[in-house]
Amino acid sequence: MSWSERIAQGLQSRRQADAYRRRLAIIGGNGPRLQYRGRQYLNFSSNDYLGLARNPDIIAAWAEGASAHGVGSGGSGHVAGYSEAHRDLEQRLAGWLGYERALLFNAGYAANQGLIAALVAKGDMVLADKLSHASLLEAAVLSPGQLRRFHHNDAGSLRQLTRAECTGNRLAITEGIFSMDGDSAPLAALQRGIADAGGWLLVDDAHGFGVVGEQGRGSAWQQGCHPELLVVTFGKAAGVAGAAVLCAEPVAEYLLQYARHLIYSTAMPPAQVCAIDASLDAIIRGDGLRAQLGRNITRFRAGAAGLGYRLAPSASAIQPLLVGENGRALELTESLRERGCWLTAIRPPTVPVGGARLRITLTAAHQSADIDCLLEALADVRRPA
Ligand SMILES: *Cc1c(COP(=O)(O)O)cnc(C)c1O
Repeated sequence: MSWSERIAQGLQSRRQADAYRRRLAIIGGNGPRLQYRGRQYLNFSSNDYLGLARNPDIIAAWAEGASAHGVGSGGSGHVAGYSEAHRDLEQRLAGWLGYERALLFNAGYAANQGLIAALVAKGDMVLADKLSHASLLEAAVLSPGQLRRFHHNDAGSLRQLTRAECTGNRLAITEGIFSMDGDSAPLAALQRGIADAGGWLLVDDAHGFGVVGEQGRGSAWQQGCHPELLVVTFGKAAGVAGAAVLCAEPVAEYLLQYARHLIYSTAMPPAQVCAIDASLDAIIRGDGLRAQLGRNITRFRAGAAGLGYRLAPSASAIQPLLVGENGRALELTESLRERGCWLTAIRPPTVPVGGARLRITLTAAHQSADIDCLLEALADVRRPA
């Protein structure tokens, strides 16, 4: 099959499965209200859980950072791109989260790829929750180690997999709060399971960082668990972009030698580092925002419970409504948009086949009236019984 034929076939198969993806050029996608083609919508699809993406202090920090340091970092951190600002933020993050070291990455995707590629060698076994984020599973598949997946949030299933012979080291992988389901992992039980086999735990807390735990320190802190490797990202609750890996001193030094995503990539702009630093201030002072988010979650779940949808068992800002078929998910998304509510249909391969859902994300920037509008719209479009 030629390149052109292969591409045509790939596109056709996505269309046939109602799984064709496209991007829409919207305005204000990081706020509680967005605009698309001149019309305003309530935005229930952003991951800006605390409403920090438009926080004036963080915007000012980014602007001042750019005035002071320029826009680009100038190079890889190993060449000229690592500044005092980077160093200070890394030290602050490490101290705040209870680790010896933190290393900044340009994105959570890059952090997961770089970390797993640097650590996992031939003979190792990666044991991942089967619903782990694509960036984690893909890194494990590309690694020379063997990937086995355990049942979702099931420490017993992880333990079972650790019984298989492994000549190298074992690395268990999970998320703090799952991006498509909104539920939390039993981190302490998973850590015991992997520690008993002499392995390490990696927790990707993209959706817990800033939102849960004392002062927003995240899922592991909330559960009193200290994974050997913790990934936090700054594009969600922190409202900015970027990521950090938290780990022990020798691991950080090792990653500086072997993590190619650090070595061969331009370092984060220092102004962005300043913005993340300001965002950290807002997160630490953010109990009020977290309480508002909590009220919105409670209001949504109480209202949605009686509407005849399948709610997911999620206590987080991610509130999926499980609808099953792709076509149905798209139809509902369309009808909700007509009623002024913007949310996203999540379809395979992002979720399992038959697991299409409306992914509703709530933020601290939503008012109770916004939640009520969404509930009304959901009541309007539900399929007559
Ligand atoms: C969003 C996300 C990532 C990717 O992070 P980026 O900073 O957006 O690249 C990684 N892991 C999980 C669980 C995520 O939800």
